[in-house]
Amino acid sequence: MFDRLCIKSADLIEKVLAGEELSHKEGSELFEEDFFTLGSAADYIRNIKKGNIVTFVSSYYLNYTNVCAASCPLCAFYRKGNEDDAYTLTTEQIVSRAKFAIEKLGVTELHIVGGFHPKLGLDYYEKMIKSIKKEFPNIKIKALTPAEIFFISKLTKNSIKEILDRLKHAGLDALPGGGAEIFSPEVRNKITRGKCSGDEWLDTARQAHEMGLKTNSTMLFGHIEKPQHIVDHILKIRDLHKQTKGFNTFIPLKFSLDNTELEKTGEIRRESSSIYDLRVIAISRILLANILDNISVYWVALGKKIAQVALSYGGNDFVGTAFSEEIFKAAGKNSGTSIEELARLSREINRQPVQRDTFFNIIKKY
Ligand code: SF4
Repeated sequence: MFDRLCIKSADLIEKVLAGEELSHKEGSELFEEDFFTLGSAADYIRNIKKGNIVTFVSSYYLNYTNVCAASCPLCAFYRKGNEDDAYTLTTEQIVSRAKFAIEKLGVTELHIVGGFHPKLGLDYYEKMIKSIKKEFPNIKIKALTPAEIFFISKLTKNSIKEILDRLKHAGLDALPGGGAEIFSPEVRNKITRGKCSGDEWLDTARQAHEMGLKTNSTMLFGHIEKPQHIVDHILKIRDLHKQTKGFNTFIPLKFSLDNTELEKTGEIRRESSSIYDLRVIAISRILLANILDNISVYWVALGKKIAQVALSYGGNDFVGTAFSEEIFKAAGKNSGTSIEELARLSREINRQPVQRDTFFNIIKKY
């Protein structure tokens, strides 16, 4: 099967297929592998783990505020509270949007994230979740990244455990995986400003997992990182998942450049190539093989056509409909789609479309 791979990589892939883990050094060597054979290996593993399906969730994105105490150079979304287009949604506005999403769009999940608002107390988040659940008890609420939870903990001086406990009792079902960026401080300190460290993100996710709250996991790539930072990040996700089994999926997120400080200062002049993006997704699949079976392809950042290719480079999941997404939109990306379009895009690559829920349980096969 892998006779087209270079001898070294053939050994590495056989090692993965035998159930062994690759080291940091071995992971870094995959960046030197031939692009097509790397993709073939990742696709082979994907097929063993997940079969011939592509999954996606019907999800509505609710960005409750763009006001943020941080000012990350990677971000085009945040505003300071005194800017004209700064906004914070009231509970009533949030419930009204949830109602529209559930009743008109038929979503099964609300994905709720926002900036680090310096004045919102824990009661705002509790009320938001309780109010939605009161009216729509069956909707799954996936809200507040580990980075947001960490910020709220610092702001309100409540422990992370106490915050998660109160939000879980309010009706929180799961956490999104944002804010992970790149864990390595030498990169993280240049692309974020005012955000938790990589270790703090991982510790917050761990605490969520230990309380029975599953989370997603992400990695922002395609900016100033080097292969060793990618491998370090994925192996840290791998290590935590081995201990907690708490991640639903790993989502390698392609960095979007438009309107960010990194673009304005000229630190980054262009987005990463599709070849690099696909390589990162393939390496994610190979390094997480036997540990975390879902590798999600975020079509909003990649574009729909490259996302289709990524599903043959190790990806098995389209993430979802991402109705009303604002964060990547601020960085120039368009997020319009439907369940029907995601199903069509899956069929076009000869895979069976499957609608899933937040936890990757199958809802409907198309
Ligand atoms: S990435 Fe998140 S924390 Fe950083 S400025 Fe943007 S909204 Fe704030």
